[in-house]
Formats: sequence, C-alpha cells, structure tokens
Amino acid sequence: MDSAVPEIDLNRTAREHAAALRVGEYTSRQLTEATLSQIRSEQDLFNTYITITEELALQQAEAADDRLSTGEGDPLTGVPIGVKDLLSTKGIPTSAGSRMLEGYRPTFNCTVVDRLQQSGAVIVGKTNLDEFAMGSSNEHSAFGPVRNPWDTTRVPGGSSGGSAATVAARGVPLSLGTDTGGSIRQPAALCGVVGLKPTYGRVSRYGVIAFASSLEQVGPFGRDVHDVADLLTTIAGQDSLDSTTVPEPVPDYKAGFERGFEGLRVGVPAEFFGSGLDESVRSVVETAIERFETAGASIDRSVEIPTVQAALPAYYIIAPSEASANLARYDGVKYGYSFKDGESVDEEMSMTRGYGFGDEVKRRIMIGTYALSAGYYDAYYLKAQKVRTLIRQEFAMALSKCDLLLTPTTPSVAFALGEKIEAPYEMYLSDLYTLPVNIAGNPAISVPCGFVQGLPVGLHLIGRPFDEATLLRAANAYQEETHWHEQAPQSKY
Ligand code: GLN
Repeated sequence: MDSAVPEIDLNRTAREHAAALRVGEYTSRQLTEATLSQIRSEQDLFNTYITITEELALQQAEAADDRLSTGEGDPLTGVPIGVKDLLSTKGIPTSAGSRMLEGYRPTFNCTVVDRLQQSGAVIVGKTNLDEFAMGSSNEHSAFGPVRNPWDTTRVPGGSSGGSAATVAARGVPLSLGTDTGGSIRQPAALCGVVGLKPTYGRVSRYGVIAFASSLEQVGPFGRDVHDVADLLTTIAGQDSLDSTTVPEPVPDYKAGFERGFEGLRVGVPAEFFGSGLDESVRSVVETAIERFETAGASIDRSVEIPTVQAALPAYYIIAPSEASANLARYDGVKYGYSFKDGESVDEEMSMTRGYGFGDEVKRRIMIGTYALSAGYYDAYYLKAQKVRTLIRQEFAMALSKCDLLLTPTTPSVAFALGEKIEAPYEMYLSDLYTLPVNIAGNPAISVPCGFVQGLPVGLHLIGRPFDEATLLRAANAYQEETHWHEQAPQSKY
C-alpha cells in the first residue's frame, strides 16, 4: 500500500470515484479502506449493516485495481457498494433480517451479485432490512432498527432502510435493495436519495430470498440518477435461472439524457393527492410539478387510476398469500434456525417457527394462509387478483396518453421510531403510493424534491413497462434543474 494515503471525498458519486480511479488519484484499495472506516463509524450511529464484508471487499478492490491498471473495467469497477441482506452471497452470512436465518451462509450467489462481481464492483457489506422485507420502517429487523441519517430519532423507511441510509450517510455511493410494495422507493424518499424499482421481469430474482414473488424486483439506490442508471445497466437483463426475466434487450439508459424535459407528457393522477397526503408534502410536490412545466414538460391532470383505492387491500392479500407459501420452507429441517429438543416433530416445528419469525412475519403468514384457505380463496385471493388486473389496465390506459405519471413517493416525511410499530395499518399506509406500481408491474423511481422541516421529500415517477429510460431521463433532467440530491445530512450529527 502507498505510504501517503490521499484524502478521499466520500461525497463523490460512483461516477466521480470511477473517474478518479482511472486517472490514479487513488486506488480502489484506498477507496475501500476509507469506505470501510466510514461505514464502521456509521454503523454505531445508524445500524445500517448486518455484516461488513471487509475481507471480501479488500480482495475485490485489489482485483479491481489490477483490472484498472490494464485500462479495462466498466463504470462500477473498483466502486464500493452495499447489498441488502436479502440477496444471497456465497459463503457470506445472509440473514434476511431474521433470527430464522442468523448465521446462514448460502452456497451460491444470487444472479445480481454475480453480475456485480463481473463488473468489478466492491461489496463492502450486507445492509440491514425489515425481516424478510416485510415492513416500512426497518423496525422489524431482528438485528435492531436502522436510524435515519437526517434525524436519528426517525425511521429510514423500509424494508431496504439500511441500503438507503448508508447511501444518504455517504457510506457508499451505491447500494442494492428490493421493492415488493415500495421497499426501494419509500426509504429512498425518506433518506433523500434516488431509488428505482425496475419493471417486473427486468432484473433476475434468482437467489433473492423470496417474500412475494409476483411483485418484487431488485433495484438500485444512488445519490444521483446517472449512478442509478449505471447500476441498473449492470444488473438488468434476461437470466436463464429466472424464467420471469424477459428477453427484452437492455437499452442505453442514458442515451436520452441530453434531451432533458423536451416533449415529455407527464400525467398527474388526482387519486395520489387525496386525503391521506400531508399538506406540507403536497406543497413540495406541487412545486416540483411547476418546475417540470416551466422546464418544458406538459402536465396532464386528466389521467385517472380510479381503482387505486383498492390497491392497498389487494396488496395485503396478494403479498401475504405469496409469503405464506414462500416461507413454508423454514421448517428447521434443512437450514436456518432449528429447535431440536421437542417431544414431537410438530412441537419442534412450532418452536422453530415461533422463535425464528418475528411478529410482522407471523402476521403476514397468518393473513396469507387464511386468504388461501378453502372457502376464503374466492372471496379474498381471487378478488384481489381481479383488482390487480383492473389496476394494471388503468395504468396502461393512463400511460397511453402520457410518457410518465408523477405522484408523491410517500404521504409523509420520515416518522418517529416507535410511532407506527403498534399500528400495522398505519405502517401499511406509508406505501399507499408505491405499492399500486408493484401490483401493475411498471417501473418507478423516487428522486429528492425538497424538504419539510429538514426532512427529505421524494418525487415519484412511474413509467411504461420496460421504459426505465424515460423515467431516468426525466429524473435526471429534474435533478439537473434543482440539485436537491446534492444536499447531505452531515450537518445533522
Ligand atoms: N412495506 C411493504 C410491506 O411491508 C413493502 C415491502 C417491500 O417492498 N418489500 O409489504
């Protein structure tokens, strides 16, 4: 290692680090060491990681330096990244935020982690999350809650709260999360960073610990839209190990960036601005809409998604139903936590699941099992699937008139730790604007658009299936106009 270690500015984006690595301003090993020390100190403040993968990170950094020294590498080579602890990493603990999988080390990588490794990105740790990705505040993690870097008495959002908070706190420039009903976009909004949920089928779910398989996608967090586009490019595309990925080619997501707002038709559906929305958040988002308009986009307030009012109940039938099936595998027999001293198999299984799962996970399993049981299936599950079809059709109709839809990402800014933990329904409402998009399968992004009493607000853009390029183009144009994304929470601690 060099004796004189350069001062490294961790406010930099991935793109800026990549450029610095290429001209030899610092090495990936030096950047990784600086990152590891930052995330260790951040850990005490915010509890953002479940595992810090120091040894792996240093090895990957050295490999990246070798690759860069030959003039090779892609935009992520040598750049540190955090990965949600729901994504299987070979030989590295993967807990899903649950006691059930504490100490579990997968024997394989999920496809997106393989792709990160091929790109030369440096994985510095596995980020904290709500247990099995069920939650909106990170308080359902078996490893303790994550705190919001803007105000440590508040939640970072969830379930990918660790991934959002570490990007906000300048721990890493990039991270990966998963989004089943809002788990990328909601924490991105509450932590003041950019987060994108890709179209269902755009990114492989192979090796991602399953919660609700028909709804979820892996997606990127970053501090700016360019970085998010680069990370999406790295992970997107068909995968023979996940038959739900589609053969659509991955486009150049930044090709349209220079066109800015030109010709963009933006729909603003009134249903997303109803009574649940905080007035202060509404006014920040209305200002953003004006900004779109003055910068050249046309705004259409006539689009409607009337069935969206049924999205929340439909989601809380479909997602728990899938969870009840997906989580049946945790029976203490093959892997994970296992209670051994029971008098019967039944007792051992019930002790295993009783101790291994937290309250929210149990609640979902019970709801889902009930909804799928004989006699209730038609009344709940089938009906929810019909609502799903309607919502999908309404999004398609709205997006036949517009290039994208604009809404708030969340009804309020970050709430206090403990505020909603005893009231599951209140917690569920924080995903009111994000989960209809998972029901429809479309892509959506959250970008910072201002503050309410020092706490970030997110702007939510929803696109046509497989048209992430237009979302990214609009988000980038907005970010260049406003620079909200450059605000950092450092002054707060
Ligand atoms: N908060 C929602 C839930 O609890 C969404 C979670 C997610 O997107 N993984 O189900």
